[in-house]
Amino acid sequence: MRSPEKTHLYSVLSLTFLIVLFSACSKEEKKDVVAADNTEEMTSYLTSLGFDKQHIVFDKDRVIVELDILMTLPELKQRVAVWKKDNSGVPQTEQRRNTYIVSNTYNTNIKLYIDAAVPSNWRTAIQGAVNNWNAVNGTRLGMSIVTSQSDSHCRVFMGNETANWIARAYLPASNGRPGVSVEINAYYNSLAANQKLFAITHELGHTIGFHHTNQTSGTYIPGTPQTDANSVMNSFVLPWNGFTAGDVLATQILYPQ
Ligand SMILES: [Zn+2]
Repeated sequence: MRSPEKTHLYSVLSLTFLIVLFSACSKEEKKDVVAADNTEEMTSYLTSLGFDKQHIVFDKDRVIVELDILMTLPELKQRVAVWKKDNSGVPQTEQRRNTYIVSNTYNTNIKLYIDAAVPSNWRTAIQGAVNNWNAVNGTRLGMSIVTSQSDSHCRVFMGNETANWIARAYLPASNGRPGVSVEINAYYNSLAANQKLFAITHELGHTIGFHHTNQTSGTYIPGTPQTDANSVMNSFVLPWNGFTAGDVLATQILYPQ
């Protein structure tokens, strides 16, 4: 979820990425060359999903795409392995993609644990976001907030970065579990309550498998509107004003009763 102000963060990050990749390529050691090759392969996979190469940032043991969508490197490597197997020897005339959503084992009661450090106004937004998703009719999707971390699927915690992401979240894993965490940027603690609610509802949308409606990554969900400017999965924060018809339909399609 992005703040409304546009900054030059994208270009700064992508430049950093290019410099890192470039310096890795220029090294003589074989190990570095292999690492650069893997990065290239993972980047190819991510661009095949429609993610803009300039908005792919490798960050230690994970990758950040479109500013607020996260994947762990082990998860990404697994996806690449399946993708390579699917593509082997077969010329592609259209894109094929794996789309992981939350399996039936978890999707009727996705349990969120909120870290103690999360301020009360964000807690209110988290509870509101859970209520929002639970109120969508005609789907099996359910969420709850639990008090034991060991009993939870997704942890909500605070980060603090002077950056234009308000919160960010992991996508569901290939094993069918929901995204493992939502990180809230304390830099945006003074955001209006209705924007906090939008932002958390949006991030929970990522943890159950939604990409951004205003960008082209991910697989289009047939039957949903081609444009949906007020969708909760728009990457820019809006004041919460309810789900759009498209949001509801997309949820009903991904998680039918
Ligand atoms: Zn997002």
